[in-house]
Parts: sequence; structure tokens; C-alpha cells
Amino acid sequence: MDRGVVGFHQDEEGHWVADLECGHGQHVRHDPPWECRPWVVTPEGRQSRLGLRLNCVKCDRGEPRDRPG
Ligand SMILES: [Zn+2]
Repeated sequence: MDRGVVGFHQDEEGHWVADLECGHGQHVRHDPPWECRPWVVTPEGRQSRLGLRLNCVKCDRGEPRDRPG
């Protein structure tokens, strides 16, 4: 299911995770089309990707939200 990116955060290992509008998170470096994208390490790069739509497999699976709100 397509979901818009509303922000980014780093997990406990320092990997970047996109915060999706549905409340799920998605690792940007672990999703094949997005491997090793240099933009994610800069504030400008992340800002430019807000609103990008990603396929959320957690929604497809009916998984609970990763974060409140
Ligand atoms: Zn989702």
C-alpha cells in the first residue's frame, strides 16, 4: 500500500528509517530500490524526500503502528 513519508529518524543502530503517514517505519537502506542512498544522511536530502510515497508492506500485512499518533 502506498504511504507518504512524513519524516525520518534513526534507529538504535544508526540506520535511517522513514516515518510513514500510516504510523509505520521503513528502513530506507534495507528496501532494495533505495539501497545506499546518500541523500538520507543530509537534512536537505531528507527534506527533499518528504511526501515521497513508499509501498508499506506493514499495511499490507495489517501490522500495528510502529509509533503513536
Ligand atoms: Zn503502513
